Amino acid sequence: MIYFDNAATTKPDKGLLETYLKNNESCFGNPSSRHSFGREANKILEKGREGILSDLNLSSTHRVIFLSGASEGNNLAIKGIARNYSNRGKRIITSQVEHPSILETFKVLEKEGFEVIYLPVNSLGEVELSSLEKAMNRETILVSIMAVNNETGSINDIASLAKIVHQYPKCFFHVDVTQGIGKMELPYKDIDLFSFSGHKIHGLKGTGALIAKKNITLHREIDGGDQEYFFRAGTVDVYGAYSLYEALHLSLKKMKENQRAVKEIASYLREELSKINEVEINSPLNSSPYILNFSFKHKKASVITEALSHEEIYVSSVSACNSKGEPISYVLEAMGKDKGNAMNSIRLSFSYENTLEEAKIFIETLKDIIERIIDR
Ligand code: PMP
Repeated sequence: MIYFDNAATTKPDKGLLETYLKNNESCFGNPSSRHSFGREANKILEKGREGILSDLNLSSTHRVIFLSGASEGNNLAIKGIARNYSNRGKRIITSQVEHPSILETFKVLEKEGFEVIYLPVNSLGEVELSSLEKAMNRETILVSIMAVNNETGSINDIASLAKIVHQYPKCFFHVDVTQGIGKMELPYKDIDLFSFSGHKIHGLKGTGALIAKKNITLHREIDGGDQEYFFRAGTVDVYGAYSLYEALHLSLKKMKENQRAVKEIASYLREELSKINEVEINSPLNSSPYILNFSFKHKKASVITEALSHEEIYVSSVSACNSKGEPISYVLEAMGKDKGNAMNSIRLSFSYENTLEEAKIFIETLKDIIERIIDR
C-alpha cells in the first residue's frame, strides 16, 4: 500500500497507542473525582496540558482546552468569541477557502445576525494583507484565517495578519493550524486562539485542542459540568489528551528532519508531474511540502483516484459538491482556476513515513493509468 492521504488522517504512532492502552488499564479514574485515584488521573491531564504549552513556549500566556478535534475547536473558538463578545461589535471576518468547520460556523452566525466578511485569496491561495486591512473596522470582534490550506498547502502570513488584527484591541485572531502544527514554524504567541487535531500528526482520532489566551472567555457550546475552564463540559479522555501532548511533542522534536524527508518526496513528485502534459500543478511553489495538489486537463480525477485505489495507492480527490450537485473544489475556484480544473483535482499529502521509492512507483502507476483512461 502507498498512503498519500496524510492530510485526511495519519497512521497513529505505535508507541502512543500502546501507552494509551496501558495507561487506561492502570489509572482510569475520572479527573474530576475527589479521591486520590481521580487526582492521579487529573495529574496526568495537567501534565499533558502543561507539556503542550511548554513545547509551544506559551506557558505564561495561553491555556489548553482539550476537546475532540479541530472541528470542535473551530466551532468553540468562533461561536464562543462571537456570542460572548457580541456587545463589542457584530462584524466577523474569515476567508473563502477555510475548512467547512469554519465556513459552516460562520454561516450559522450570519443567520444569527452577525455581519460576515469572506475574504478572497490570490492565485496562490493566500489572503492578501491589504484585503484584511480594508475589511477591518471598529465593529470587528473576530478574524479567523487558516495557517495552511488543507487542499493546496498554501501558507498564510500569520504573523503579518496578526499585526493587522491587533491594531484593533477589541478584536480576536483565531487560526486553524490543523495542517501546519508540528510541520512548520508558526508564530503561536501572536495568535489569540488556535485549534488542531491529534490525528493529523500521528496522534489519535477524537483528540484535539483549542489553545486560547488566558484572558479570553468563551460562550460554551456544550453545557454541563465545569471541566476545561468551564468552556467544554464532559469527562475528558485523560490519556487521549495526554496522547495529544505526546504526538505534538514528537512532531515538534522531529520537525526539521521530517520536513526534509517530505520535501524531497514533494519536490521529486512536483518535478515528475510537471513533465506530464495532462497535469496542471495547483499548489504554489512556496506551499507546505506536506501537500501537493494538481488537476487533470482532460481526465476525470475521480476515475483516476479509483484506478489508483485498485493498485492500493490512496490519494484524495474533492468530495464536496456545489449547489448544482457537481463535485468541485471551492478552494481552487477561489484561486481563479477554471471549472474543469476545479472539478478534477487530486491532493497528495505526505508523512515522514513515506519514501522516495513510493513516489517513484506512484509516478509510474499514474502514467500507466493516464494512458489507459479515456478523456472526460
Ligand atoms: N481544519 C483543517 C484545515 C483540516 O484539514 C481539518 C481536517 N480535514 C479540520 C479542520 C477538521 O479536523 P477534524 O476532522 O479532525 O475535526
